[in-house]
Amino acid sequence: MAFLEIYSMQLLNENNYTIDALSLPFIQKAKLTASVIRLDKVHPVVSGNKWFKLKEYLHEATKGFKKVIVTFGGAFSNHIIATAAACNQQGLQPVGIIRGEKPAQLSHTLQDAQQYGMQLYFVNREVYKEKVVPAEIWNHYKKEDVYLIAEGGYGLKGMEGAATILSGVDVQAYDYIIAAVGTGTTLAGLIHAATHKKVIGISALKNNFSLEDEVKALLPPHENQSFQILHQFHFGGYAKHKPELITFMNNWYRQTGIPTDFVYTAKMFYAFEQLCNEGYFLPGSNILLVHSGGLQGNASLPKETLIF
Ligand SMILES: *Cc1c(COP(=O)(O)O)cnc(C)c1O
Repeated sequence: MAFLEIYSMQLLNENNYTIDALSLPFIQKAKLTASVIRLDKVHPVVSGNKWFKLKEYLHEATKGFKKVIVTFGGAFSNHIIATAAACNQQGLQPVGIIRGEKPAQLSHTLQDAQQYGMQLYFVNREVYKEKVVPAEIWNHYKKEDVYLIAEGGYGLKGMEGAATILSGVDVQAYDYIIAAVGTGTTLAGLIHAATHKKVIGISALKNNFSLEDEVKALLPPHENQSFQILHQFHFGGYAKHKPELITFMNNWYRQTGIPTDFVYTAKMFYAFEQLCNEGYFLPGSNILLVHSGGLQGNASLPKETLIF
């Protein structure tokens, strides 16, 4: 809870990111230059890509005089905590439909979401899959006040918001843009904002081969769609990890000072290193890696797993 108490008053400023050059031997060896856009610095809780994905939805909700934002997620979801905090800041009532039975002890993510005023409704995994809003919620709030956001912020408005990640970035300076992928909404936004650039997504899920189509569904059909999603860096699947990944995270932090999360960004940086070593990138290229945040999720690891 200390995390939230210290930071909850910090106002979100989406321009708080930095673009940090990476200088590591494996990058030089591959004759590349690379930088990281540090979206993890935007806000400690509404971190990374999640604010960008939410902003257009919240804008539409506010314009339509909606008061209650209902969305879906798991017990450790970055999207849930980001929605709770962003709604709190904008005077909207956040409501979370959470996957699984209510546990005796709420996860740190859900405790923090509650602190931000989010009302939590637990639904079992079978029902959750249907993505329907439980009757209790409709009984509790006026239908016309409710604005629904899909799980993970997937959708057109999410893509449009994510595209603004690159608003202040000199996109032309880069040959490749690399980001971690869950729903693909962020990747679609990056592709949309950087047409003619090679955009590479590192999937955090195992064998989620419908991703390509889900990304394409968010893009205007005529648009240049030169993107690739790599599926071999999932480390066992969504939110799964292996000792090798934890070791990588600690080494990466020692070498770069950049903290990563084990669900998404660690897999992305790990993939980047592997790809450099395999000669995947054209020598002379300049690469932008998107640090999409998500650091709050590390609190679910045993203490002292990570050195940061
Ligand atoms: C949610 C999340 C992603 C994936 O974003 P999508 O738009 O769902 O693909 C990547 N990185 C972090 C840290 C996230 O929290």
